[in-house]
Amino acid sequence: MEVKVNCLKNGCYECCRETEMQLSQRDVKRLERLGYRRDEFSTEIDGVRVLKNVNGWCFFLENGKCRVYSHRPLGCRLYPVVYSVDSGQATVHDFCPLGKTIRKRDVKRVERILIRHISEIYGFLP
Ligand code: SF4
Repeated sequence: MEVKVNCLKNGCYECCRETEMQLSQRDVKRLERLGYRRDEFSTEIDGVRVLKNVNGWCFFLENGKCRVYSHRPLGCRLYPVVYSVDSGQATVHDFCPLGKTIRKRDVKRVERILIRHISEIYGFLP
């Protein structure tokens, strides 16, 4: 499942800058199966595991490309749709230059998916 955004075509990888992408247990295990150690690609903030940055960019970004694109975290696949635990709703992140191309019905679809996965993300035990 992913949100179709033309970032690759437009050469945009702004969302990989200073990322705070939260990871589910499934994301971490999938990336570990590729041979990466969780402590090299992620860190824990307030009990939630998030991607780590190196020199201001996601650990996995190399020459403007994601090294794990086909295995990237769920949050990266659904971006720029993001979910707010406080409001219980998904929205399109203002930061994304291509955010205006996302259809409202896709936002709602992602909201349902993220609600299903949110307990896994927040219940993650390092
Ligand atoms: S995992 Fe890939 S898509 Fe996600 S922030 Fe890192 S480089 Fe970008």
